[in-house]
Amino acid sequence: MTPEPEAGSRPGPAAGGGAPARVSWTTLAATAIAVAGLLGWADFAASILIHHRLLNRPLGTGYEIVWLAGTSLLVWSLVPLLIAALARKLRGQRLEVRDVVLVISVFGFYSVALSYGPLDVSAGLLLALGLALALSRLVARMADPGRWFRRAALPVVVVHALSAAGMVGAAWLAERRAAAGLPAAGQGPNVLLIVLDTGRKASMSLHGYDRPTTPNLERRAGEGVLFANAVAPSPWTLPSHATLFTGRYVHELNADFRTSLDSRYPTLAEVLSRSGYATAGFAGNVIYANAGVGLARGFIHYEDHVVGLYRLFTGSRVGRWICAEERRNLRRLLGYYQLVGRKSAEEIGDALLTWLDQRPARPFFAFLNLYDPHDPYLPPPPFDSMFRTAPGSYRVKPLTPRLSAAEVAEAREAYEGAIAYTDAQVEAMLRGLETRGLLDSTVVIVTSDHGEQFNEHRKFTHANSLYAQALDVPLWIRYPPRVPAGRVVERAVTLRDLPVTILDLVGHPEPQTLPGRSLVVTWTDSTAATSPVLAGVRWDGSHKERYSIYAEGFHYIDHETRFEELFHVASDPEETRDLAAAPAWAEVLKRLRGQRDSILAELPPFLPGARRPGTVARR
Ligand SMILES: [Zn+2]
Repeated sequence: MTPEPEAGSRPGPAAGGGAPARVSWTTLAATAIAVAGLLGWADFAASILIHHRLLNRPLGTGYEIVWLAGTSLLVWSLVPLLIAALARKLRGQRLEVRDVVLVISVFGFYSVALSYGPLDVSAGLLLALGLALALSRLVARMADPGRWFRRAALPVVVVHALSAAGMVGAAWLAERRAAAGLPAAGQGPNVLLIVLDTGRKASMSLHGYDRPTTPNLERRAGEGVLFANAVAPSPWTLPSHATLFTGRYVHELNADFRTSLDSRYPTLAEVLSRSGYATAGFAGNVIYANAGVGLARGFIHYEDHVVGLYRLFTGSRVGRWICAEERRNLRRLLGYYQLVGRKSAEEIGDALLTWLDQRPARPFFAFLNLYDPHDPYLPPPPFDSMFRTAPGSYRVKPLTPRLSAAEVAEAREAYEGAIAYTDAQVEAMLRGLETRGLLDSTVVIVTSDHGEQFNEHRKFTHANSLYAQALDVPLWIRYPPRVPAGRVVERAVTLRDLPVTILDLVGHPEPQTLPGRSLVVTWTDSTAATSPVLAGVRWDGSHKERYSIYAEGFHYIDHETRFEELFHVASDPEETRDLAAAPAWAEVLKRLRGQRDSILAELPPFLPGARRPGTVARR
């Protein structure tokens, strides 16, 4: 066997003239670890400083990337390194230190470049390649680069291990301290707020849909109050949850595609924890309901990103980029369309029950975001084929208006299977509460943050319109001591009123700590007002604002500067007949427009950078 003198780790003559010296595998491994670790930290720093702080974008991952990023760079580099080793072998050579540096740093530099969103893909790749080549050349010129990397590897490993252990320990300690710091608890009931992310009302048998998509909720509906016309404050996750937590209309908040919810307004979890509640959040939507977007405020326990095997691939920005949903070609090649690292409702239910069994002995407030109805609509068997009308399994396709009617129907069937799956999981959770003797002492709320569209108005998914399909959501409240059984509330209500309703139901001494009006009046006083049913969306961070309002049995939509629409809710629930231009409804249109204007006039000024639309009619 050939001895492997480390002194020979210097590369052989560049252009022939003698066999190149061989580097030991230990040196190559040490190089890989050191380079990946150092570039992993650069990736982490760029993600935090450039992507999150400078560009003000949601991080989309947890701080554990401080140790996961480097590991992920290493994982992605393995196959290219093997190919490089093979190529060298064919030439009778062995992998060199500079090869390892080149391969890993291409991934590493590109990862860093991706932190700056506006950079073009090919420009980023070119930049990464250029930097990696320069670095590998620099290494090639070093007298003994292997020695340098062997020395660096151990500290890199130690610091990674310490930061991983430190993060777990710090989270555990912070939770213990927060629990110990809770004030004395009162005698209030528990609260369980379940949000079916992307659950549209029109697809739920709970609300009269003919497919049995929610048999369990339907069976239980009579145990509480069902709201037949509940409206989400926004057609997408973050602003909708932000309203659900603060009671503020979406345009009072800064939560947006690129901005996390800031701390100017108190949240329901904060108010309840100040009343001695043990608070916990469990987010299935780890993109726009994670702690990094500001929704964890007030929760002493918050579970979002899972540290699983898949994070070895998605720990770095380049890994998240490769695994992103949009990489359709790669996905088609692999035949894999599920969201990488999706957390199922079953897992969230298990986490909830585990937490309930260990929670501090006091009333609890638990918030669940169940993400399964969100596209790409791939629930587990038997729900995947529950409503399929065509043979074979559902194949994910890009959702565009070019799809045939049969393809749209297929997507909707798959989506409704996911709704049925979520319904079964909610029932399992309620049973879990029941067996623990907690159900009747818990205010249970089931709702959605927004709906979903299947080519109605030539729109798919959500966040892109204010039509009923995107805004109408289920709402059911169960709490036998104070919520009457078997009641159906017909008036339109906004989820904006949920936080104050919850404070009212738990007997909080000052429910108006949060704005809005308690929905309790909908069954105690039919004449008492609830909040105006206003919804809004800020378009892709462009600060164009669109509003919609439900009043007098109509739905008025103001499409920013372009046009207005008016629909009659009861006779046209799918919103196919726009009445805005009909002279017969001109007065209604004027009144609803006026209502919108007066509500907006009462709201505090818009946040810097956002502009308030004109309050004159635009047609
Ligand atoms: Zn959502």
